[in-house]
Amino acid sequence: MEIVIVGAGPAGCYTAQLLKKYGFEARIIEEHREVGKPVRCAGLVGRQVFENTLLPLSESSIINQINGALVCYRDDSFQIKREGVAYVIDREKFDKNLSQGLEVEYGKKLIEINKEGSGYIIKTEVEDIYADLVIGADGANSRVRKYINFVDNSYANNKKRGNIKCYLGVQYRIKVEEYLLCSKITQVHFREGIPFFIWVIPEGNNIFRVGVISENAREDLLGFLRDFKIKGEIIEKLAGIIPIGLTKYYHKNIALVGDAAVQVKPLTGGGIYYGLKSAELLAECIRDNRLDGYDIRLKKKFGREIKFGLKARKLYEEINEKELKNMFILFKENAGIIERTANFENHSVIFIEILKNPKILRDGRKILSRNIGKLLF
Ligand SMILES: Cc1cc2nc3c(=O)[nH]c(=O)nc-3n(C[C@H](O)[C@H](O)[C@H](O)COP(=O)(O)OP(=O)(O)OC[C@H]3O[C@@H](n4cnc5c(N)ncnc54)[C@H](O)[C@@H]3O)c2cc1C
Repeated sequence: MEIVIVGAGPAGCYTAQLLKKYGFEARIIEEHREVGKPVRCAGLVGRQVFENTLLPLSESSIINQINGALVCYRDDSFQIKREGVAYVIDREKFDKNLSQGLEVEYGKKLIEINKEGSGYIIKTEVEDIYADLVIGADGANSRVRKYINFVDNSYANNKKRGNIKCYLGVQYRIKVEEYLLCSKITQVHFREGIPFFIWVIPEGNNIFRVGVISENAREDLLGFLRDFKIKGEIIEKLAGIIPIGLTKYYHKNIALVGDAAVQVKPLTGGGIYYGLKSAELLAECIRDNRLDGYDIRLKKKFGREIKFGLKARKLYEEINEKELKNMFILFKENAGIIERTANFENHSVIFIEILKNPKILRDGRKILSRNIGKLLF
């Protein structure tokens, strides 16, 4: 069977490694000239990325350990301590490690897919490639996803299920002049009008990754740097797209994985862990010759979490300044619960714990004038 993986990001490379382990040869094509570049990521991953994958991942890309977060709203804040909860990685190195031993075919950008008998012709800028099975690991703007939606629009035309929203994320790496930030604690700043949050991630050596996902990401980031008087040398700037929503995961002999499959946490935009775990499910389905089970396995693994995240995101994007402030105070008052239950990859866990507490549930309903208990169902 000719298998072609489009895209040599973490999801594509890890799928290729797993398929290799299961005895399948897969070609992997990549539009760029090397793996890992350009970087479009803040590089903060939960420890599960290194502790909970089928194939052990090299830890040589880890450059800092994170022991908690300072959660901020304007000039108010509270701290959540979680020793070793996450790592800051060198994302280029992370991707390159995942590609070790693979023969990535560089400079081959997928342009178009056409049906050919029971398989497909993948048209690239340099050659046409035949595939019995196509794996779309081509990231947020996946052309493979667009092809699936074109030939099977049952999702794309379904407003409730097929709605993918793309957000812009921008980040600066800054070597700060004054050492005023903690080197092991990330900062998360909530502000009205910003659909996610502003992050400050310590890399070490006084270098911080400061970024935001929002409609006016550059302006919001510059405004934040000004307000918090963060000065220093900007070493690097990056920008990228974060897809949030739901899509169809496969169609006939084409499957999506990673950002292409929108395997992204709706509340934070983080996609590395879900991308790796979805690669594991996909590789198992191919090994078992049960591609038709991929949808079900993915939904079983992440369906509830993604649905919860989408509902919580919708709610968060609708709340006003006063509600945001009061919700922040409610979270601050209950920081102990967050500290005890927070799970880097499964955000619903905190909400389940919080909503179990009748007083918090009552206060939350009052602040938001909504039945927040419905979030989880
Ligand atoms: C600003 C920003 C910050 C982020 N921060 C974090 C974070 O801290 N933690 C986290 O977990 N996630 C983060 N993410 C998300 C994370 O980067 C993605 O979830 C992750 O990269 C998805 O991996 P992937 O392999 O699915 O896709 P990608 O990493 O996007 O890889 C796709 C690959 O396919 C290639 N490709 C694309 N189109 C074609 C084509 N037509 N033909 C051939 N090749 C093609 C690309 O060149 C690329 O190599 C962030 C994203 C952004 C934008």
